[in-house]
Amino acid sequence: MKNKIPSNWKNCATCSRWCGWKNPDAFCNFVEYDMNEKARCAGGGFNNAKMNGQQSCSKWTQQFFRK
Ligand code: SF4
Repeated sequence: MKNKIPSNWKNCATCSRWCGWKNPDAFCNFVEYDMNEKARCAGGGFNNAKMNGQQSCSKWTQQFFRK
């Protein structure tokens, strides 16, 4: 199921280290992702673990910035 959250919310789905599918809108205000997907955390707080887009950690790194 698809979900859309603000690009500055500190979740895996908006994190540059999350390897899942993500789709920012043209202005990078929101990021769309699949709530059912589990994807790898590449180098973050849960390195190599499969994470849901809704999860988070203290090493969250923003990927998309509002234009
Ligand atoms: S666990 Fe942390 S570093 Fe890894 S993808 Fe999620 S928010 Fe980003």
